[in-house]
Amino acid sequence: MVRPRSGYRDIVRYSGTPVRCAIDLSDNTNLWGTAPVALHAMRQASTEDLSRYPSVSAAGLRDALGRYVNLPAEMIVTGCGSDDVLDSAIRAFAEPGDTLCLPDPTFSMIPVFSRANGVRPIAVPLTRKMEIDADAMIALGARVTYLCSPNNPTGTRSSREVVEKVVAAANGLVVIDEAYAEFDSATFLDLVSTGRVLVTRTMSKAFGLAGLRVGYGVASPDIVAEIEKARGPYRIGTLAESAAIAALTHDVAWMREQVAAMVQNRTRFIGELRARGFAPLDSFANFVLVPVTSCSEVSNTLAAGGVAARAFQSLAGIGDAIRITIGPWPMMERCLELLGSVK
Ligand SMILES: *Cc1c(COP(=O)(O)O)cnc(C)c1O
Repeated sequence: MVRPRSGYRDIVRYSGTPVRCAIDLSDNTNLWGTAPVALHAMRQASTEDLSRYPSVSAAGLRDALGRYVNLPAEMIVTGCGSDDVLDSAIRAFAEPGDTLCLPDPTFSMIPVFSRANGVRPIAVPLTRKMEIDADAMIALGARVTYLCSPNNPTGTRSSREVVEKVVAAANGLVVIDEAYAEFDSATFLDLVSTGRVLVTRTMSKAFGLAGLRVGYGVASPDIVAEIEKARGPYRIGTLAESAAIAALTHDVAWMREQVAAMVQNRTRFIGELRARGFAPLDSFANFVLVPVTSCSEVSNTLAAGGVAARAFQSLAGIGDAIRITIGPWPMMERCLELLGSVK
């Protein structure tokens, strides 16, 4: 066999949700549906839209995103999902052999992107209060520091004080992943003015457009330019771009309504879980992490009853846990019924 790049030997191909269930609470997408005007925009596509290349760097989308986050378009970089922005940012700001530090637990793709770029990931356990261990992260002096708030899979958020401390002392780029920003009132977007922070966001979660693969980063124009070089041209298809622009222009009120409904159900779901003897973590995102004795037992019980949830084995400082996406109440009720039978 031809010899593949040696650093790739230990990278496992991503397999996604292993079981397809009638109710899928496994991937934190919007279970109320998709941004309606965006869907309409997709259906308007013409021959011209498909036979020609899209714009090189999604200029129209960057304008719409700039209006959405209230910053100039030259501070926005788009990608094929925020995954693409994260991957490109690591490539742009760390040399092969450098280190990237990240909290543990956090978004499982980061060590994968890190290794794929020849960069060594170093995980720093969250404190007992599920907060970033700023001193331990700073001490590593990593080329790239990754933070996630609200954090996946814990759902917890970082305090401003701790994040500012990391940013002030960091030796390189600080990435703050805000994939769940729309579900939380806090944001660290203002820290991009320090000139060493990249905030990443996505249309996949609150806007219900995961199938389009549209994500973006916000940073100073010089950081944006480097990430664009590492990413390459033409990453957003014409249909995805026009739908995302429509969503940002016309579906923000729709999105906020869904978020309000989600918050209500999240509070109710957490209350019901506590009443059943579970100890779910507080959440600032559209999912809840529930520590359990055996995550495989619980996820099998849920799957047998038609509900998919994400199982996490032996999470640092937590142990086994199940991550459950919050959706319309009948879905949550079914999930509670099944959870009642494992307790
Ligand atoms: C879902 C998710 C993403 C990736 O989103 P895409 O834009 O769909 O690639 C990034 N970060 C976190 C923490 C996520 O949970």
